[in-house]
Amino acid sequence: MSEQQHIKASAATSLTSNGEGKKRIAVFGSTGSIGTQALDVIEANPTMFSAEVLTAHGNDELLVEQALKFNPNIVVIGDEKKYLKVKEALASTDIKVFAGAKALEETASMDCYDLMLAGIVGYAGLRPTLKAIESGKIIGLANKETLVVAGDIVMKKAVEHRVPIIPVDSEHSAIFQCLVGETRNKIEKIILTASGGPFLGRKPNYLVNVKREHALQHPNWSMGAKITIDSATLMNKGLEMIEAKWLFNLRPDQIQVVIHPQSIIHSMVQFEDGSIKAQMGLPDMKLPIQYAMGFPKRIANGFPRYDFRKVSNLSFEEPDIKTFRNLGLAIEALNKGGNLPAVMNAANEVAVYAFLKNKINFLDMTDAIEKAMQSISFIENPTLEEYFESDGEARNFVADLIKL
Ligand code: NAD
Ligand code: MG
Repeated sequence: MSEQQHIKASAATSLTSNGEGKKRIAVFGSTGSIGTQALDVIEANPTMFSAEVLTAHGNDELLVEQALKFNPNIVVIGDEKKYLKVKEALASTDIKVFAGAKALEETASMDCYDLMLAGIVGYAGLRPTLKAIESGKIIGLANKETLVVAGDIVMKKAVEHRVPIIPVDSEHSAIFQCLVGETRNKIEKIILTASGGPFLGRKPNYLVNVKREHALQHPNWSMGAKITIDSATLMNKGLEMIEAKWLFNLRPDQIQVVIHPQSIIHSMVQFEDGSIKAQMGLPDMKLPIQYAMGFPKRIANGFPRYDFRKVSNLSFEEPDIKTFRNLGLAIEALNKGGNLPAVMNAANEVAVYAFLKNKINFLDMTDAIEKAMQSISFIENPTLEEYFESDGEARNFVADLIKL
């Protein structure tokens, strides 16, 4: 049994809650796709959960609306220019209002909540999540970039502080669910499923002309803009391979990706005896979100069910790494380790941002990431500071390259 699995097992009996028996949730990134769905889960289960902290970066209007509805203890608006607006809108309440990146970290360290639902997108989620871990909070982790950038340090800290990290990403939630009751059994490999995104089967001559609006149409999931583009380039699956390595303590060769366009099997685990467990269901992020929040208890709901009698085909194929080169770059980062995943992640964040602003085309994203990975000095065992520095260097490199 690994140390993390021990923690999960003991967490199963000792998840903290307030005097009323409710788990107090801090929804970091409450205005996003994950955040709003987490609030839906809280709203549907008022005897189990309360929303104690809500945070947003720029969407002050939705944040205020959420605060008036859920009456949290604290709200944090990332963009400091919007502080006064939020403060005024909540003046008639006793909700505390803070602003800025530092306030996000300070709030993450506060006593007023039990579980952080880490739903901020990108590198910005790393520091608050680290603070929550250092403060002994349970983490429901949607923010995969946290583990891509500094997975070794994050997992080490989680063990040190006896903090369970419960994945929200649907593939990792699937694997986590398959591993319940298997703590003594060795994993041979995991099979991460990927929908393939909107451009499955397409070739570079098609991708070169793809525009933002087209790339934002995901066939099976409705998500935030950054992860939707990552799904179209397959970078998302690469980030998820690295996320899986850290969450489940795997070697790179134990992580296999298979394209499964229907998104019914959310991922699988193959054990030493060759037996394979899969977790299945209709694609709906509320399921892994509520599983992480309720763990170890499953929560009844009325969501639509998958019906084996109605759907005729579940299919599987190899990913096309020659066309979707981002996945190949991520595999390189996974294999090499060190600061390379952090560099790749930062370069990708800037490249996706530029693509979303129509400044570069779809395939330019890959070129920018590749150049950053070739140019930034490799560090084998980075400190946390060095991870931060590598992130900054890669951002500046790509911003210069594409003249942002
Ligand atoms: P989103 O863009 O819809 O929402 C992001 C949230 O983070 C918003 O509340 C935003 O205000 C906040 N935010 C953005 N930049 C910030 C900054 N610099 N500082 C502080 N807060 C900031 O994103 P999403 O789709 O909800 O994804 C959130 C995370 O969950 C990502 O890491 C993504 O990879 C992961 N994830 C999402 C899904 C999904 O279905 N959306 C599925 C699996 C994993
Ligand atoms: Mg996923």
